[in-house]
Amino acid sequence: MMKTPKIYIKLLLSIILVTVMILSYSTSSYAMESPEFVRIGLNYISAAPSSCQISGNEELALWDFQGTENFYVLSGVKVVSASSLNGVLTVTGSNNEELTCEAGGDVKKVSEMLLNGFSLVSGNYLEYLNSDGTVFDSVVNFDDKAYRGGISFFMNANNTFNVINELSVDEYTYGVINGEMGYSNPIEALKAQAVVARSYALTNLGRHDYSGYDLCDSTHCQVYKGYSNENEKTNMAVNETKNLGIYYENLPVSAFFSKNSGGYTQNVEDVWNEKLGYLRGVKDIYSPVYKWNVQFTFSEIESKLRAAGYNIGNLKSVAIKDKNSSGAVAAMEFTGDNGKATILKEKIRSILGMSLIKSTMFDINEEMNTTIASRGVYVRGFDLSKLMEEKIYVLDDSGEMVELDKENSFVMDGNLSCKLFEIEFEPSEVTGGVVKFDGLGSGHGVGLPQDSAIEMATQGFDFIEILNYFYTDIEIK
Ligand SMILES: [Zn+2]
Repeated sequence: MMKTPKIYIKLLLSIILVTVMILSYSTSSYAMESPEFVRIGLNYISAAPSSCQISGNEELALWDFQGTENFYVLSGVKVVSASSLNGVLTVTGSNNEELTCEAGGDVKKVSEMLLNGFSLVSGNYLEYLNSDGTVFDSVVNFDDKAYRGGISFFMNANNTFNVINELSVDEYTYGVINGEMGYSNPIEALKAQAVVARSYALTNLGRHDYSGYDLCDSTHCQVYKGYSNENEKTNMAVNETKNLGIYYENLPVSAFFSKNSGGYTQNVEDVWNEKLGYLRGVKDIYSPVYKWNVQFTFSEIESKLRAAGYNIGNLKSVAIKDKNSSGAVAAMEFTGDNGKATILKEKIRSILGMSLIKSTMFDINEEMNTTIASRGVYVRGFDLSKLMEEKIYVLDDSGEMVELDKENSFVMDGNLSCKLFEIEFEPSEVTGGVVKFDGLGSGHGVGLPQDSAIEMATQGFDFIEILNYFYTDIEIK
């Protein structure tokens, strides 16, 4: 049963609009064994090549990343070409010769070793790992970008292969922070992002196991751009938080983050399904205002619904039926001449377009000049006639006090045992033409909002304070 759609908000209230990241998948925690290395997908799915070139800044070597003695330098070979012919990987040198190496007393094909757990690394990689990590010249190059660690391949069914970067967790984190947050931000915000990125990586290993790697390099997992996109300051944020992760009830946890909360972060179960004690919605007083809007015609919405498998005929109305405690839309109802579709939580965004509906903190209107008051604010008070002689103020969607437009308001005669007054929103409903979405925030709103981390750091909070504000009852260790 749908809950009653009316939402009462005590005292002065705003129309709260708003937030995102993506994907409903299980968020259960893994026992973090601190695996030292991760596998990151660089080119995969439609971008998976059938041939490519890899080079090192020194002679290349093969290594299996298991901390073993198995490290085989390919003497004199600085560049290799990998190609897939009829589903078979071949790795050749600059004279097009098939490459072999001596491993454990046997002569083995480099191609086979690369498909069996070995990676191509720069010949000085072990030396680099055994140093204090400040040597920066151990990289391999692929597709005009440099990467720390090594490159390996995973054959696909269609005669292409996925290109995978294997490297230590901290090396990976170096390549994440600048892409996810940007070096120009304050160091304490970058440190918060570093702890979050490391925790996220270590608790989501194996997410793309079926494709031969742990994490992809896009926003689906975390944006990773390798050595080429590193910066001294973001690397410092990684070094100054070395080995620190986020723990809840003594287990390492996956630290979700998104761009902007729109003023309130979300309980995780209000966005996906599983309830988790450390991902509770909090009032975000540090959130910079981030507004967005988008509009769709009814026929555009009809085709989006059809594409998602909802055949409700000609659309007759679009309504917000429920909001959660943070003010985010929890349920929308689409009514057509052939049925109804009720869509919940993040699924609203995935059906209408994640990049268009930037958050679930939104309201809807017919496409016309809409102010809070003209949408019909219902005010109930004990002395209504007197109340209407006064100016009434409400908060608008940017948190500013504005005077209520009483011309377009309706006073209802209620005998509520009331507080001074309450404002009640009727559910927004649009019954024709074009529906406009006005929202605040960007992202799913679970966990750390990056914009707020930057604002808190600017105000002088350190990364521990920032993380503790947005993750409930956690330990950072
Ligand atoms: Zn991914």
